[in-house]
Amino acid sequence: MENCLFCKILRGEIPSSRVYEDENVYAFRDINPQAPVHVLIIPKAHLTSADEIVADNAALVAAVFTAIPKIAAAEGLTNGYRVITNVGEDGAQSVKHLHFHLLGGKKLPESMA
Ligand code: 5GP
Ligand code: ZN
Repeated sequence: MENCLFCKILRGEIPSSRVYEDENVYAFRDINPQAPVHVLIIPKAHLTSADEIVADNAALVAAVFTAIPKIAAAEGLTNGYRVITNVGEDGAQSVKHLHFHLLGGKKLPESMA
């Protein structure tokens, strides 16, 4: 996607702090961290949000969630963490490329909304 911010990051047109990468997945540090560890995990294929997940592309999501425990371990999140994906306007999604926030490194607030 030409003008998608995270596709630009994937193409190296915008620098990012890489945390993890494999054939299908890229993970990098959020530019505005909300916790001591705040990593964004994205499929390399462009999907706008979790609202576009169907059986035919679900392997991309499986690839992301297979990467998450590896990234959490590498980041030292032995005591737990939170994974969030925002969807659309009411979900306050600002970047329209499916991404999962991995948050940890402190006791997170119980409230999520
Ligand atoms: P959303 O609000 O769409 O769920 O999350 C988008 C996230 O992307 C935000 O947490 C924001 O800080 C992060 N972000 C926005 N622009 C950039 C950027 O250029 N580089 C990085 N690393 N993160 C970004
Ligand atoms: Zn994209």
